[in-house]
Amino acid sequence: MARKFFIGGNWKCNGTTEEVKKIVNVLNESQVPPSDVVEVVVSPPFVFLPLVKGLLRPDFHVAAQNCWVKKGGAFTGEVSAEMLVNLGIPWVILGHSERRLILNESNEFVGDKVAYALAQGLKVIACVGETLEQREAGSTMDVVAAQTKAIAERVSNWSDVVLAYEPVWAIGTGKVATPAQAQEVHFELRKWLHANTSPEIAATTRIIYGGSVNGANCKELAAQPDVDGFLVGGASLKPEFIDIIKSAE
Ligand code: PGA
Repeated sequence: MARKFFIGGNWKCNGTTEEVKKIVNVLNESQVPPSDVVEVVVSPPFVFLPLVKGLLRPDFHVAAQNCWVKKGGAFTGEVSAEMLVNLGIPWVILGHSERRLILNESNEFVGDKVAYALAQGLKVIACVGETLEQREAGSTMDVVAAQTKAIAERVSNWSDVVLAYEPVWAIGTGKVATPAQAQEVHFELRKWLHANTSPEIAATTRIIYGGSVNGANCKELAAQPDVDGFLVGGASLKPEFIDIIKSAE
């Protein structure tokens, strides 16, 4: 079964109302492959979600960048999965390395978040990836397998999960993984899913790459058999995001 190409734009903690409107305008006016060829999801900061959802063309969707691990309540500063559902936000990014590393989110905590968000009806972009130190120590696969295992232990239905492989050393550094490096990890992750979930989940789950993807390097990465799309940070704030969407064809 063919996996539909997936392009996520992670705006991170960026933007003013005016800037957000400008980005949405560029997206709305773009000529891109149809939605049966590519799924496009952009992820503004929480505060801009309703604005972006209201202005964005209907074939593009929005994602939150995080949500609370369980039902809302006395958790100052958090946003619950229920609230996202209430606002009609279909997607959430969970386990981004900036949250794992800066905010100390553990594999188990991220796994709990993924399971809870899915149970509320959200679709999840779940991020995994190794640091430079871990890559140099030869433990890339151990690290991403442990991160994926913490999700797989808590989730049985993967149809609403997109797995994002984002090597930490490639994020925001301009040092993109080579197509061969990305393909190798994506292939191994798919093999891991085959052995530890089911052959069907392995065949159908989209594994997308993130880390310094831009208009110039996306084509070659997109041509790799196990690269099913991208999670784009810096370049998702620029018009070249449209070129990245076009790499789906
Ligand atoms: P980058 O970020 O494209 O700016 O490297 C990717 C990400 O963090 O999702």
